[in-house]
Amino acid sequence: MSRETDAAALRVLSPLSALIRKTLRVVDGEQTDRADEFSVHLAAPNLSIVSVEGGAFNSAEREVVQAVFEVIHASEENAVRVEELRKQMQRLEREHCDLTIKNRILSEVSARDSLTGLYNRWYVVDKIEAEINRSLRHGSPMSLMMLDIDHFKRINDTYGHPAGDLVLQTVGKLLKDCCRVYDVPGRYGGEEFCILFPQINLESAPNVPERIRQRLEMTELELSGSQVGVTASIGIASVDARADDQVLNPAALIDRADRALYSAKNRGRNRVEFWDATLSLPRFIEPPGH
Ligand code: GH3
Ligand code: MG
Ligand code: MG
Repeated sequence: MSRETDAAALRVLSPLSALIRKTLRVVDGEQTDRADEFSVHLAAPNLSIVSVEGGAFNSAEREVVQAVFEVIHASEENAVRVEELRKQMQRLEREHCDLTIKNRILSEVSARDSLTGLYNRWYVVDKIEAEINRSLRHGSPMSLMMLDIDHFKRINDTYGHPAGDLVLQTVGKLLKDCCRVYDVPGRYGGEEFCILFPQINLESAPNVPERIRQRLEMTELELSGSQVGVTASIGIASVDARADDQVLNPAALIDRADRALYSAKNRGRNRVEFWDATLSLPRFIEPPGH
């Protein structure tokens, strides 16, 4: 007999005894040491109600006793089931919550470049596509900046790869610091970075990339005990949905910013160039012996 059945049985025992004018007792299992007419056995839960004083049960009394204890048993089983369901729901809720957090962490991690903490190329390209669509829908401008560190290979060759990594991290931090909350700074690959500027035509706000270039130029890093300066070349391409010339996909916009970047390299590095229609192939080729 469970503790609950026990308590419930004891609660009903005395009014039931008064009702049928017998002294009743609840015992576990089937009562065998008294004649059948003195006990009512209930299969579930396995217990017997025994008349210890007041004589044998008649059939009406037997039915009443049976009905009372069946109701008690059923409500106890219900309570157990309700409690089980409540726990199960809590567990599911916790698991769901865990999964949501894990998913959030996972998508955040998969959007990031592990060295610099900036967004990675795949994330930025997705954002460029979304921003191009928005720009075309609402007639709002947008710009893409590509930045490539000048002569970065020399830094690796002179100070080693870990020093090169430190430079990449420093440039990454500088870009992050120069961004507004809506801008999307990313590491496009290797020593090439980008920033997506929603809602801005940088051709009419050229001070932003120029400020980035200047801040980098003024930054000195300590690499293997030497003070080392780093510069970068920057290319910009903008979309203005009101103009006739519309860029309809990320690849086309990236290509324009890239051409502007290589034009900056071509014109001496450490400078900002904007895309215009004259910037066609061939791309920048490093002169021999440079
Ligand atoms: P330019 O001014 O024309 O851009 O010259 P550059 O030397 O910067 O360009 P190049 O493409 O010749 O060299 C890029 C170098 O960047 C080569 C590659 O080893 C290095 N690099 C790419 N990814 C990483 C990285 O994650 N860490 C380090 N330390 N170096 C990297
Ligand atoms: Mg490069
Ligand atoms: Mg470079």
